[in-house]
Amino acid sequence: MPVTKDQAEMLTALAIAARPHGARRWDAPGVMSALGKVAHLDLAEVIKAIGRAAGERDLETPAAIGNTAALCWTERRVERFEPEKTTPETRCGICGKSRALCATAPRFGGDDHSFEPDFKIRTGGAVDELRDIKAKAATTELEPAAEPQPTSNEEAS
Ligand SMILES: [Zn+2]
Repeated sequence: MPVTKDQAEMLTALAIAARPHGARRWDAPGVMSALGKVAHLDLAEVIKAIGRAAGERDLETPAAIGNTAALCWTERRVERFEPEKTTPETRCGICGKSRALCATAPRFGGDDHSFEPDFKIRTGGAVDELRDIKAKAATTELEPAAEPQPTSNEEAS
């Protein structure tokens, strides 16, 4: 549905009102003139383009509204904050930030966000001990129970 004159006037008022604080003001005849060049296009598309153009601080004039090759006629990706994906291994256990972010964060006295534990468990230490116990047990089971040997005292008596 093309843009009617009434709609163009409404859009002009909105575009002028939507100019960012401190940005160059647009005059109504200029916006109407630019709108006239795209009035044959779909109203919804014109609304989107005029909204993008009006919000663009650096646009000195509304001329871009009348030029479908201008940036305000292309949909821009909305920049949203995307939280950084981390796993428990790559996350600080104290502040919860990623290792890289935590490492670059300012440090205050006494806060230690170290990724290295204070003490180190010897690799396989406990497992080796368990193996030793098992080895002894296996040896004992395999060896036939030794007959009680008479002591030298018994022999003597
Ligand atoms: Zn941390």
